[in-house]
Amino acid sequence: MKYENSLTFAKALDRADVLRSFRKLFYIPKTGRKPSLYLAGNSLGLQPKSTGRFITEELNDWARLGVEGHFHAKRPWYYFHKFSKKALAGLVGARPSEVVAMNQLTVNLQLMMVSFYQPSGKRFKIITEAGAFSSDQYVFESQVNLHSASEHRFHPEEAIVELQPRPGEFCLRTEDILRAIEDHRDQLALVIFGAVQYYSGQFFNIKAITDAGHRAGAIVGFDLAHAIGNVPLNLHRDGVDFAVWCSYKYLNSGPGGVAGAFVHERHGNNSELRRLAGWWGHDEKNRFEMKKGFQPMPGVDGWQLSNFPVISGAAQLASLEIFERTGMKSLHKKSLLLTGYLEFLLSEMNSDQFLVITPANPSERGCQLSILFRKNGKRVFNTLSKKGVVADWREPDVIRVAPVPLYNTFEEVYRFAEIFQGALTGST
Ligand SMILES: *Cc1c(COP(=O)(O)O)cnc(C)c1O
Repeated sequence: MKYENSLTFAKALDRADVLRSFRKLFYIPKTGRKPSLYLAGNSLGLQPKSTGRFITEELNDWARLGVEGHFHAKRPWYYFHKFSKKALAGLVGARPSEVVAMNQLTVNLQLMMVSFYQPSGKRFKIITEAGAFSSDQYVFESQVNLHSASEHRFHPEEAIVELQPRPGEFCLRTEDILRAIEDHRDQLALVIFGAVQYYSGQFFNIKAITDAGHRAGAIVGFDLAHAIGNVPLNLHRDGVDFAVWCSYKYLNSGPGGVAGAFVHERHGNNSELRRLAGWWGHDEKNRFEMKKGFQPMPGVDGWQLSNFPVISGAAQLASLEIFERTGMKSLHKKSLLLTGYLEFLLSEMNSDQFLVITPANPSERGCQLSILFRKNGKRVFNTLSKKGVVADWREPDVIRVAPVPLYNTFEEVYRFAEIFQGALTGST
């Protein structure tokens, strides 16, 4: 597409957008009396107008039925985790038995690491990207410590191999990731990446990394926090061993919304795997017999611990219903155009004050662009906020902007660029 730097052009793209009616399904926050330029769906997705109705249905069933709602609610609570399976499977490219909504992201990452990070004396290393989200770093460190305390003597500094971009670069090259995996092959237990890196916006090559990890004899997992609902995923076909995600970012399930996990079917029924168990992972047919002896549900359902958070899950269903109406294919198509337009407008500014560090190759990113400032970044960010732009600031020097194809428009991207340009000039 040949883009033009004009409001008329942006409006024409909106008119041609087959997904333009979806914006009306969401509440758009306001700055003062005007709708904000909300470009922070990578941090907290917007609320679908249908969410209230989905939650109210559960509240009504609770009021009407009390405990009977477990089996007699419109959506029986006992089986609530099943209602999101089809949509989640579609979003991550999996079979329904390979995905489940449960817990929170960090909890799920800990649970998956208990099962899939099983270091031996020789194989104990974890390869990941440098600068992973803090919570993920704490998980890796605590998992290594858990094992070094009880079985082997190794330490996080030695066990966790963090891959840095080359000097002067901001993203990792796939070839460098593959080489590092190969170099550590004899000691490697686990390869785990944030599929879309939260800071740089880089979308890693899941298939290439998974194949390389497996060739090295390691397990391969991904944190999909910034990938689910943002980029097309094919976890089953790519052979990924496990994955986890949260649902309040691109999945619009609301603050602290129920998270999820994927376990490839080749591991789903492996009772040899160490796992932490709870009654909701136990065979649903005899769960209420309350007997000793854990018998896991088949597939990833066997990793559930507690009974399902129905209110949060109802909010998630409202959003998933919208995703099911669009499909990731058409969303991604619009996303490429929308983010491409943002990139074009930023490049038109010809400024040496900032640099887009997200890969320029559209297949190596989702909708987010990360704008790195050499100086004055925080001042530019504050000006943007005053003018009604909701984006986010990541220490030490990045503004992340995410035009989300479900509800953002080309006109918004154009208006953002206008304000951004003004903020740059104002900050010198
Ligand atoms: C958002 C995010 C988290 C947040 O973890 P919670 O358990 O949901 O609080 C963790 N890791 C990554 C990579 C994230 O992007």
